Amino acid sequence: MRAEAIIFDVDGTLAETEEIHRLAFNETFTHFGLDWYWNRPLYRQLLDITGGKERIRAFVANHRAPDGPRALEQVAEMHAAKTEIYTQLVAEGAARLRPGVLRLITEAKDKGVRLAIATTTSLPNVEALLQAAFGMPSSSIFEVIGAGDIVAAKKPAPDIYRHVLDELRMPTFACIAIEDSRNGLDSARAAGLPTLVTPSIYTSHQSFPGALAVVPDLDTPPVSLDTIAKWRAADAGW
Ligand SMILES: [Mg+2]
Repeated sequence: MRAEAIIFDVDGTLAETEEIHRLAFNETFTHFGLDWYWNRPLYRQLLDITGGKERIRAFVANHRAPDGPRALEQVAEMHAAKTEIYTQLVAEGAARLRPGVLRLITEAKDKGVRLAIATTTSLPNVEALLQAAFGMPSSSIFEVIGAGDIVAAKKPAPDIYRHVLDELRMPTFACIAIEDSRNGLDSARAAGLPTLVTPSIYTSHQSFPGALAVVPDLDTPPVSLDTIAKWRAADAGW
């Protein structure tokens, strides 16, 4: 059957945003007088923790970070500053949509397929990205945006997908999720959603058991509503 709603993850799925997040974190650390620097291999590890505040706390707990206790007292302020830096970078055009994203979204809108977002990133980050990438407010494209701290348990818990499904008032079998990471896949699958995975630069080393399909991006091969319907017909699980 054809999907009646598509629920997108944001970071790594709509755009390769993680490198911009990393730069924003590092700039924030300097701003707060912390001698911390997250290089790419370290950030790849830290991405196992979803949510920016949670990631900072995990770094302090697991990496003997200098000034850790002081930083922990300022996590909320640091995260707010990081969000400001990130949204500024994105507004300046630092993030571009990944291949095929705009085409699939355009096809979905033309055919009346509903669109939603399920992400652990903060709402201002999502809105900045969507405004910059699509040139219009996010609400004119996505009917439901589940973001940030709206649920207590972040991915890989299924809560954010359940929240979005409730808001859409849609059954899982009528929807599909698109994700780039194992945490995201596990979250969507735990909510009962068939999930297409387009691995990103920071998740290409991961494995994706239970995915409906794994493709390099939405243009390789060109993924349309028909393609998704064929994958679902071929997968007895759905
Ligand atoms: Mg992601």
